[in-house]
Amino acid sequence: MIEINNIHKSYHMGSNSLHVLKGINFNVKEGELVSIMGSSGSGKSTLLNILGMLDEADSGEYRLDGFPISNLNEKIAAKYRNEFLGFIFQSFNLINYKTALDNVALPLYYQGVKRKERIDKARHYLEKVGLGPWANHLPSELSGGQKQRVAIARALASDPKVLLADEPTGALDTTTSYEVMELIQGINDEGKTILVVTHEHDIANMTKRIVNLKDGVIIDDSLVKQVRAS
Ligand code: ADP
Ligand code: MG
Repeated sequence: MIEINNIHKSYHMGSNSLHVLKGINFNVKEGELVSIMGSSGSGKSTLLNILGMLDEADSGEYRLDGFPISNLNEKIAAKYRNEFLGFIFQSFNLINYKTALDNVALPLYYQGVKRKERIDKARHYLEKVGLGPWANHLPSELSGGQKQRVAIARALASDPKVLLADEPTGALDTTTSYEVMELIQGINDEGKTILVVTHEHDIANMTKRIVNLKDGVIIDDSLVKQVRAS
């Protein structure tokens, strides 16, 4: 599903440059649940943003579901991003003045899905994450865990091939974190390919494979026995 080969990325600030990814190689097969671990500043988000086509590598190869991802024009890139990828962020990134239902439905609007179908899908995915009764509530009326569930429903609504989650439990207490991981495990059980960036060992242990990043290189990449969240 994901194949990357010798990815490099540097950031340039004036005359300084910071070499963040120094030759990253890894593949993710369909149906995997992988965590990317590493201390703060190790390049986890940089890598995830490249995989998510939110940023481009300086060199190296990236194939997503067999499609080469490089030098795409913005229109094609946006099309692939919408079709292939769903994003979940630490800070939820919900729109505050829209209801849970409208937040989930919004990306479908940008994909040209008709209103009735948008609402039906949004409702379906809100129910799937256990928030059916909260459909008409604003984010400010929801707990952190509920907000992240809305964000997960939004990411799922377009049935992406891969879910990319950057510290999805980073703003949540331990109990709520495990509930969110239980949901992520359930989605993976149904076959969805999922990458989770985290710096917490207990969260990484709930995935099936841990990729350890340090100083811009992968220092370990191992299958683990998955700890179930419940
Ligand atoms: P992580 O997610 O593992 O904490 P990041 O990928 O966010 O790490 O950042 C890796 C390094 O790159 C850090 O030193 C960070 O300060 C730097 N960095 C990240 N994004 C930018 C940027 N847009 N411009 C300059 N430096 C950046
Ligand atoms: Mg980060």
